[in-house]
Amino acid sequence: MKQPYSVLFSLMVMMFVVVSCQPVVTAVAPPPATILSVPATATLSPSITPSPGDIAVGSQPTIAHPITPSPVPPTAVPTSTPTPPPVDTATPTATPTPTPVGPCANRLIAEDDLWAIVTQNYGLSRDYAPTDLVSLNDHLGNDVTLGYPIEVRAIMVEPLIELITAMQAAGLQPQVLSGYRSYSAQSIAYNKWASEFPGHVNIISAPPGYSEHQLGTTIDFGSPELPLYTGDPNLQFHTYFYKTNEGIWLLANAHQHGFTLSWPLETFELTGFYYEPWHYRYVGVQMATMLHEQGLSLTQFQLVNQQEPCIP
Ligand SMILES: [Zn+2]
Repeated sequence: MKQPYSVLFSLMVMMFVVVSCQPVVTAVAPPPATILSVPATATLSPSITPSPGDIAVGSQPTIAHPITPSPVPPTAVPTSTPTPPPVDTATPTATPTPTPVGPCANRLIAEDDLWAIVTQNYGLSRDYAPTDLVSLNDHLGNDVTLGYPIEVRAIMVEPLIELITAMQAAGLQPQVLSGYRSYSAQSIAYNKWASEFPGHVNIISAPPGYSEHQLGTTIDFGSPELPLYTGDPNLQFHTYFYKTNEGIWLLANAHQHGFTLSWPLETFELTGFYYEPWHYRYVGVQMATMLHEQGLSLTQFQLVNQQEPCIP
């Protein structure tokens, strides 16, 4: 039986999935009268189910820190986890100096760091932009990009081509609909949604500096099957992507090419993002495979294994 809050949540999911990843290109209609249910498997816990008050206030999702993640199996730490340098306990003359942590608005990251955490809490400086961006349109046909100009970091082009090739060999029709998005592009999108949905823009769109797309290693996939499930040929992003053959394949196989699903079900309280079954980030085969085998999201791993990168 449909619960009242699930109706509200469905409306929010509808808005969110429409606008979150292609905010500039896709025209968005007001929440439709027809309510599409969150999939039966989308059982958000009551503690994170948006309430009418959440919608009215529209405050940015609050993420407590430190966050107690799900128990991590002892084998969850990959062999690639950086090993702390050995400490010479025999000469305790130097007092360890904590690494200073500045505000997230000043945060820059090293380009060889493919695992930097970005959530609605941990953002990036407006000055951060990758230096090795390349055009995907030089590597993938319009049948994949649908003609959208898309840039990504060079480091992930070959793995992405291999993934696309594997999907096509399996008889699928993968689409790549979004890649790098600059701080300024995200800012324009955010302001657009703030003017249209002033009460809850922070729920439906990442503020500038808080989108993984600014990293240049994140891709939004599409599927030509999506309208079969949504009934709307104009919707490019919807929770029902998980039902498409492209979504099913990616969930099962993307890790083999180094990609991981950033915002799985039921991780809102950790990330501030609702389920985005189309949003994948390149983290390398070893990390992606470890996360897949352990059933962990990247954020869960980061919160356990990485120091807090900045002050929200
Ligand atoms: Zn995305």
